[in-house]
Amino acid sequence: MSATEPRRIGRPSYAELAAYRSDPDPCPIDLSDNTNLWGAPPSAERALRDAGISMARYPEAYSETLKKRLAEYAGVPEDHIIVGCGSDDVLDSALRAFGEPGSTVAMADPTFVMVPVLTRTNGLTAIRIPVLPDGSTNIDALANANADITYVCSPNNPTGRIAERCEIERVLQGAPGVVIVDEAYMEFAGHTAATLLPKYERLFIARTMSKAFGLASLRVGYAIARPALIKEVEKARGPFKVSAHAAIAADSALRLDQDWVRARVSDAVESRTRFIASLETLGLSPIRSSSNFVLVPVADAACFDRLLRADGIAVRPFKKLPTIGDALRITVAPWEIMETMLAALKKAVSACR
Ligand SMILES: *Cc1c(COP(=O)(O)O)cnc(C)c1O
Repeated sequence: MSATEPRRIGRPSYAELAAYRSDPDPCPIDLSDNTNLWGAPPSAERALRDAGISMARYPEAYSETLKKRLAEYAGVPEDHIIVGCGSDDVLDSALRAFGEPGSTVAMADPTFVMVPVLTRTNGLTAIRIPVLPDGSTNIDALANANADITYVCSPNNPTGRIAERCEIERVLQGAPGVVIVDEAYMEFAGHTAATLLPKYERLFIARTMSKAFGLASLRVGYAIARPALIKEVEKARGPFKVSAHAAIAADSALRLDQDWVRARVSDAVESRTRFIASLETLGLSPIRSSSNFVLVPVADAACFDRLLRADGIAVRPFKKLPTIGDALRITVAPWEIMETMLAALKKAVSACR
């Protein structure tokens, strides 16, 4: 027997990565994760109760039934849709499908926190481009980054700023590879790049049912693109990623609860408008948002986070964001909750100087 050195376990490039950690101690009011604080669509909850799903059997391999429904919702043919276990899974599979280890991915800084992580776990290299002083994405720098993959989040998490259709088009004209547009908050912005699909074959639009559709626990995400791109990403994704329960509830919400979703979206937009005005009267300068959250630059995010938590409210604090500095990302909720939030925030404003 030869005494060989024990093999090192795991990829060396994962050494500094940590698993995603959600909120360690939940607060009674949770405004930290941009989920739908008006709840879940009633028909989706009913559908789950009454589903009668055979739990011992596999679901549809690529969620064919749900694809049909999403295609109607998005106004595209069925072969333009891929579904995944949350849009995290769709983005992960897309990065793997469109890049080889060593390929580059251009993205704003800050942007959706999972994207630099997924870039890294897939062996790709991130090119980070600081946002402009008003919080918007630096479109020209992204378009000229010459990256293998270009990621544009619109509205961008955490800044809330959208990239206009003509700006997405500028990126498509400048970038050599696939352009991924993340429209997780599309419903709140009332704005989509999907109309560019007939013109651009390198466009891949990721969306989710976790935010406006209120189904974060079920993990249903999807993307819209030309069939050639969809095929590649389905290879990288693999089969059976959406459970039968998730598919049934999502299908039901799309069939029966689009009015519910639209009403909750307009509640959120109204709440956001009032909240931004109130923040300004507290002397704060929130970034103009097209989403269901607001990014509020502050001098010391950790201080605000501590005081708000003491009042039972969780927000998402960010330390030293490029261009912006410390900031709080606050999810918009029904107005009664925002009033509680504003009272706690007012105390924190005078304490955190
Ligand atoms: C929340 C979010 C997602 C992920 O949504 P899931 O479908 O729950 O994985 C994707 N992109 C952005 C920008 C988000 O904020």
